[in-house]
Amino acid sequence: MKIHNKKIENLIIIGSGPAGLTASIYASRAKINPLVIAGVNWGGQLMNTTEVENFPGFPEGVKGPDLMNKMFEQSKKFGTSFEFDDVVYVDFSKDVKLLRTSSKDFWAKSVIIATGATPRKLEIPGEDEFYGRGVSTCATCDGAFFKDKIVAVVGGGDSAMEEANFLTRFATKVYLIHRRDTFRASPIMQDRVKNNPKIEIILNTEVKEVLGDQVVKSIKVFNKQQNKEFVLEIDGLFLAIGHVPVTGFLKNAITLNERGYIVANNHVETNVDGVFVCGDVEDEEYRQAITASGFGCMAALRAQRWLESKGVKVDSSASSY
Ligand code: NAP
Repeated sequence: MKIHNKKIENLIIIGSGPAGLTASIYASRAKINPLVIAGVNWGGQLMNTTEVENFPGFPEGVKGPDLMNKMFEQSKKFGTSFEFDDVVYVDFSKDVKLLRTSSKDFWAKSVIIATGATPRKLEIPGEDEFYGRGVSTCATCDGAFFKDKIVAVVGGGDSAMEEANFLTRFATKVYLIHRRDTFRASPIMQDRVKNNPKIEIILNTEVKEVLGDQVVKSIKVFNKQQNKEFVLEIDGLFLAIGHVPVTGFLKNAITLNERGYIVANNHVETNVDGVFVCGDVEDEEYRQAITASGFGCMAALRAQRWLESKGVKVDSSASSY
């Protein structure tokens, strides 16, 4: 459909992690002809993951990027179109929704937001200054630079455990620094860390500052139990302290909660008619690839039903909905 020479898409999906790509597979099979604005860096967090062991259907495990490439190929096979750019602004105030990237405007009747989340930072002195020069949020991407070096990982969740273990492939020693005395990571991940002789666990400790010259040389840490500050000599600092939702581009277009996550009802509907949401940008609790995919499926089916209610012809037989 075109208005004033502008192409109006039936459905635009913003984001290309498991949530966005699953939504696109369902929507393209239903012949909605979705457009995915995939981001400059497509694929989401799994592109920075090593082995995914808990995605059903892969008893031997699957590499994160391999899984995302398969989803991408599956989506393309059913006719999804892709734009590899980031959405920087939206206007959802009219029936036809506007989505703006750095280079182009797009219009759509319905939208699925699946922009996920990005790594949280510590917000301490030196962190930004040494980012890319010893400070990293991705062990998979940067771990190999630390062969025979000493590194520290901050965090107490599954990501921190995974990164600490992964880094022992390269580093001679890995400090795992956590602010509390118990980990929130799953027992199996904790066991792997505790049984790894290259990992030294430092509990009740906060990282206060990153120090160095051209590159990271050390970190200033504070042990809360001993009420003592000390300096730890390291070559690399890996942050694995969770994520923040990617919702900055939405400004006031949609209702967010106090932590910046999109608010939705049980049917993945936002407060804007025709705008749906799925994955880590809404889900603060589960945050798994499989749940993101599940929510992506729900969002596509909801968008499909919504478009049908507006008189758009879709192929409902393509799903069991
Ligand atoms: P997470 O579970 O939210 O853990 C974040 C960790 O960072 C927590 O231990 C938290 O400490 C700590 N933290 C947060 N802010 C901090 C700050 N400002 N300073 C110091 N520490 C801070 O995040 P995640 O580990 O990235 O995991 C996210 C989800 O992905 C989880 O559901 C997890 O199960 C899943 N995941 C699964 C796998 C796997 O199964 N292979 C791998 C990675 C992630 P507190 O504990 O004190 O709050």
